[in-house]
Amino acid sequence: MQRKHITVGGVTVGGGAPVVIQSMTTTKTDDVPATVAQIHRLEMAGCELIRVAVPDMAAAKALEQIKAQITIPLVADIHFDYRLALESVARGADGIRINPGNIGGEDYVRLVANVCAGRGLPIRIGVNGGSLERKIVATFGHTPEALVESALHHVALLNRFDFDNICLSVKSSSVPDTVAAYRLLHSRTSYPLHLGVTEAGTAYIGAIKSAIGIGSLLLDGIGDTIRVSLTDDPVEEIKAARAILQSLELRRFGPNIVSCPTCGRCHIDLIPLVYEVERRLGNSTKELTIAVMGCAVNGPGEAAAADYGIAGGTREGLLFRHGKTVGKAPMDGLVDALMNLITENTQ
Ligand code: SF4
Repeated sequence: MQRKHITVGGVTVGGGAPVVIQSMTTTKTDDVPATVAQIHRLEMAGCELIRVAVPDMAAAKALEQIKAQITIPLVADIHFDYRLALESVARGADGIRINPGNIGGEDYVRLVANVCAGRGLPIRIGVNGGSLERKIVATFGHTPEALVESALHHVALLNRFDFDNICLSVKSSSVPDTVAAYRLLHSRTSYPLHLGVTEAGTAYIGAIKSAIGIGSLLLDGIGDTIRVSLTDDPVEEIKAARAILQSLELRRFGPNIVSCPTCGRCHIDLIPLVYEVERRLGNSTKELTIAVMGCAVNGPGEAAAADYGIAGGTREGLLFRHGKTVGKAPMDGLVDALMNLITENTQ
């Protein structure tokens, strides 16, 4: 099946384009300075598409000022009220998220579809397990099939008015249900898919759930944009999303740092050493694999696939390149020596 794509404010989602990272602000949208400040932090972290809640007219009107101060595309998240969708479009939103079956009737769906079509704006239909239509639950229960049927029902409403500029999501707080729903949806439509596990939880458990749910689908070639939903600073969502995409080797954002778990052969405190290397390379965009290993006996060999690495000793540690020792340094200068080695060889 030829997969469709959409364009959101110049960013392509779907059709084989690189998987897009997105997040959602947690500020009151009509607090423009706070919202813009949060979006700037997200942009710096690598967010490529931002969604903001539009619960009322004040929020919709604020989009114009927000848009004027940010560089990434902005999607307005609307529930139930078509007037908020129209106002958001008028204020410069690059796309809207709305479920057309919930906005009160065909005339309103036609209006929103026509206004978006007139400006070339896509609509994301975002189905969540917790807010399925009663009729669908009565037939399908709380199942992956129900999520998919709901999404297809909303799609049919837009298609009725020749609107096809659509992205879909079918999120559940259950990882297996999320994966099953997206697999089913992918087999039944060619629209781009926005992946996510909803209500995933706090940073640690939420990142694990998202990595499993989103990662399983991406490994199957399913999914065009991702949001890692965390109960935390949304910047953590971007970090997790990047880690997921980099781990799957779908995108590369900087060095891949590998480190051993240590064992009885390790004579150093490896944990702060690894964090120090992570910190120093935090802003690097070099596509390198860097190893931080606990012992000189096995470290260089175990990390032979790394471009550069260090291995701890007792008083001094080893520097290695592609598994071969290229130098030594005192333990308190080992990270500096690694940074010099990388700089010398990659400038
Ligand atoms: Fe143990 Fe050395 Fe392997 Fe680390 S590199 S796990 S310290 S043997």
